[in-house]
Amino acid sequence: MSELLAEDLVCTRIDAHLRALHLPGMLARYRGLAEEAGLIPEAYVWLEGALAAERASRDEHRLARNLKAARFPVIRELAGFDFAAQPSVPKTRVDTLAAGQFVAAHEVVILVGNPGTGKTHILLGLGLEAVRAGYRVRFVTAAALVNELLVAQRELRVPKVLRQYAAYDLVAIDELGYVPFSHEGAQLLFAFFSDRYERRATALTTNLAFAQWPQLFGDETMTVALLDRLTHRCHVLAFNGESYRMRESRARAGRGSTGGEAR
Ligand code: ADP
Ligand code: MG
Repeated sequence: MSELLAEDLVCTRIDAHLRALHLPGMLARYRGLAEEAGLIPEAYVWLEGALAAERASRDEHRLARNLKAARFPVIRELAGFDFAAQPSVPKTRVDTLAAGQFVAAHEVVILVGNPGTGKTHILLGLGLEAVRAGYRVRFVTAAALVNELLVAQRELRVPKVLRQYAAYDLVAIDELGYVPFSHEGAQLLFAFFSDRYERRATALTTNLAFAQWPQLFGDETMTVALLDRLTHRCHVLAFNGESYRMRESRARAGRGSTGGEAR
């Protein structure tokens, strides 16, 4: 009786593996084949283990592929972020975002604040967590994205580039606002955001408050329309603290003046 129950349990797991691995022919026949060979229940135990190993290996490869495709310039872990040094950014809000619901819901995350306050670090950390959750992620700087779109425009393949980006569940755009762009660049970026609106998630960092965006885009009406879409379902994290780099160098200088590192 209990042996039968155990057998059922193993077969339930095997069925789930075979469905996940898209092996319908095997799913239909494996029980019959095991019976014919007189290998019950040993064959089931072996098969379950082998299939679990295959799934684990595929998951691992997919993760490595997606991590490479994300093109993160460096790996930054959220765990390595010192939230005490940046009190304007609540850890609970970052943790909520890291859980990935905003990616599934095709929402927007805007990290805004002064240089050196950890925006890129959090952007990279959120991107990494999204990759780990199985999402397809792409990191790109705003300048590189606009350049790519401008080149595509000349070659009449903007729709193709937008389609390529649409394949990513999350596009993480760094440093919007540092480099001003042309009217054409602004229009293309507008097209990019419109294309993703409510279809795919986007996260971005910027040093500019929303009130400064019309200046960056050079077109009041377009910027109003853009902000309307971007901020419709949007999580804004304001980084108001001081630069982490300055804080560190001041701490180093401080240690220097009192006779070096106490160790
Ligand atoms: P921003 O993008 O806002 O200019 P960065 O994310 O590039 O700032 O941060 C500058 C450097 O300082 C990076 O190496 C980053 O990892 C580090 N850093 C910034 N804030 C923190 C923090 N609160 N805890 C740990 N490291 C931080
Ligand atoms: Mg940055």
